[in-house]
Amino acid sequence: MRHGRKSRSTTIKGFKRFIAKELDHQLILGVTVQPANQPERDADVPLRKQVQRHGDVEALYIDRGFLASAWTVEAHAAGKRVICRPWTPRNRGLFTKREFAIDLAAQTVTCPAGTKRDIKGRTVRFPGSVCAACPQRALCTRAKPGRGRTISIHPSEALMQQLTVAKTTPEGRAELRMRVPVEHSLAHICNRQGRRARYVGIEHNVFDLCRYAFIENCFAADRFERAA
Ligand code: SF4
Repeated sequence: MRHGRKSRSTTIKGFKRFIAKELDHQLILGVTVQPANQPERDADVPLRKQVQRHGDVEALYIDRGFLASAWTVEAHAAGKRVICRPWTPRNRGLFTKREFAIDLAAQTVTCPAGTKRDIKGRTVRFPGSVCAACPQRALCTRAKPGRGRTISIHPSEALMQQLTVAKTTPEGRAELRMRVPVEHSLAHICNRQGRRARYVGIEHNVFDLCRYAFIENCFAADRFERAA
């Protein structure tokens, strides 16, 4: 049995199920199942293939697990809208990444004390000698003496900054809520299908998930027809 993690305390054993739903008509266009220990972003490959059979996608409303997926990165680079909750920086009572000014145009990061470093790669290191003399060190890092603070730069850092700003606006939060029907569909499927995989192996479980997605689509078509 393989298990993955949703958070530190919540594990998922066996398989994870994924759906891709279009939000205008509330229809599920793609499903897939993958081992729980595989990164969620990998599910974008089969989902993308199934969704794009129905046409081009104008905007992606995604779970944070898909932020690093190739589909998301390409959609953002192509100027399409990506709507997602940004990762919350955690640093146990210390300055978080948000307290650092990240200037992607100039490729620099400036810390709260005003020290500027160039972005060269995925990690920006503030020198231990500079941090040792900094009056704010106790608020910034618990690194061993002689070492300084580090800041990670996400491969889609520009998108991360955009999402962080969007979450602070009423319009941005309203857009985030538009993804709620996807969670409803997952909950309906879970209620009907149950929490345990019925079959051994990916292929059979994908087929099983297709059946439940079809039922969900029948209900959506019925709601759509009644509302027309
Ligand atoms: S400890 Fe280092 S990174 Fe943190 S504020 Fe001071 S100089 Fe900047």
